[in-house]
Amino acid sequence: MRNHGTMWSKWKHRGLPAYFLALLFTGFYVLVYWFPEPLKPLFSLLDPLSNVLRGSAADHWFLYGTVYTVAVIVMGIRMLIRYRTQRYHIYRTLTLMAVQLMLSYLIPALLMRIGSKEFYFSYFWPLKPEYLFPSSITALVQSNDGLLMFMGFWTIAMTVIATPVLTYFYGKRWYCSWVCGCGALAETAGDPFRQNSNKTLAAWKIERWMVHSVLASVIAITGLLWWANVDPTSPLASFAQGANRVYGFLIGSVFSGVIGVGFYPLLGSRVWCRFGCPMAAVLGILQKYASRFRITTNGSQCISCGNCSTYCEMGIDVRAYAQRGEDIKRASCVGCGVCATVCPRGVLKLENR
Ligand code: SF4
Ligand code: SF4
Repeated sequence: MRNHGTMWSKWKHRGLPAYFLALLFTGFYVLVYWFPEPLKPLFSLLDPLSNVLRGSAADHWFLYGTVYTVAVIVMGIRMLIRYRTQRYHIYRTLTLMAVQLMLSYLIPALLMRIGSKEFYFSYFWPLKPEYLFPSSITALVQSNDGLLMFMGFWTIAMTVIATPVLTYFYGKRWYCSWVCGCGALAETAGDPFRQNSNKTLAAWKIERWMVHSVLASVIAITGLLWWANVDPTSPLASFAQGANRVYGFLIGSVFSGVIGVGFYPLLGSRVWCRFGCPMAAVLGILQKYASRFRITTNGSQCISCGNCSTYCEMGIDVRAYAQRGEDIKRASCVGCGVCATVCPRGVLKLENR
């Protein structure tokens, strides 16, 4: 794998252009989330497409979804070219592109067009906490509409059954590197910046505290909302609603969007996945303690070049494991496989055993 002078590129390695890019990305997110008015001329251009797909005029969310999907597809093609000799990357990039286009863009839009609920079949609790809130789940499951009931059962089945089973067999990569929309953007548009992830021990400590705190918040909010559902007079009801609004603003918008994507050029492509995503926290616990997935290392072949650590987007010091010939079973590893690809000696192997 050639690195094409990545470390000398001012775009890819925190030079002035990288700061400019970060400003552009964060600016776009701030406008989309909170001040969409100046974007009106832009999303009006998408009216014809939105009318065909959704049966209504475009708004800032449609603009966002379109830009996001185009970014995944265009940068996905770049990935396909860059990693053209690696079947693993070809299959997972094509899957990420297809899932983004179908499940996160076309199908939700077409559901709106037929007057149904806008629904994302590729997102589950706790990444989308509201999907398991009592208000949404009871509305879906108790509706007399077959499609809505299917959405309710899909959410429950994917969260409670498919997630642990698939993670047992394949590790968290089945979701983070093959399905998730956040992962899709990170693996395609974020790939040029993957080397900027922080590899220090301090970052690892902060990562564990932060990601598990976010997960604890989602569990608490979901639990309180269900409690309040059973006892609506409980003062917990309004507290849980308020906590959910704070969570939506701080974690759902500021962290996952503005910082998570806006700071790609400065902090790497997986800041959100690593420090904030509650789904990553759940999958990580399962991966570490109840999964067959691991990266095996052939220590005697390692020449300590450090390529694997450099290009690990989750900030894992892969080389340290390789030097010791120790299997890598880290909760944060998303199984992207790039460490194995950039290793000049074939030391690393992603295995489910
Ligand atoms: S860490 Fe979270 S946001 Fe990132 S790819 Fe995995 S599930 Fe998606
Ligand atoms: S250890 Fe390897 S497979 Fe895991 S996240 Fe890092 S680069 Fe990807």
